[in-house]
Amino acid sequence: MAKCLISLKPFVHSPEDKKLKYCSTCGNLATLEASFDVGDGVTMVEKYCDVCSKKMKPHR
Ligand SMILES: [Zn+2]
Repeated sequence: MAKCLISLKPFVHSPEDKKLKYCSTCGNLATLEASFDVGDGVTMVEKYCDVCSKKMKPHR
């Protein structure tokens, strides 16, 4: 399934967060939140770390 990166924004854990969020690619602590358009008007949000986010730049 083709997915298109819409936005990439910094993700900060709030002190109230009981569960930490982890990178969906490598499992490190997430620092960024990426939104993807996966088609049919559906948006999917995934968390990524710094390293993995650099591998996915928004399409220009
Ligand atoms: Zn990662």
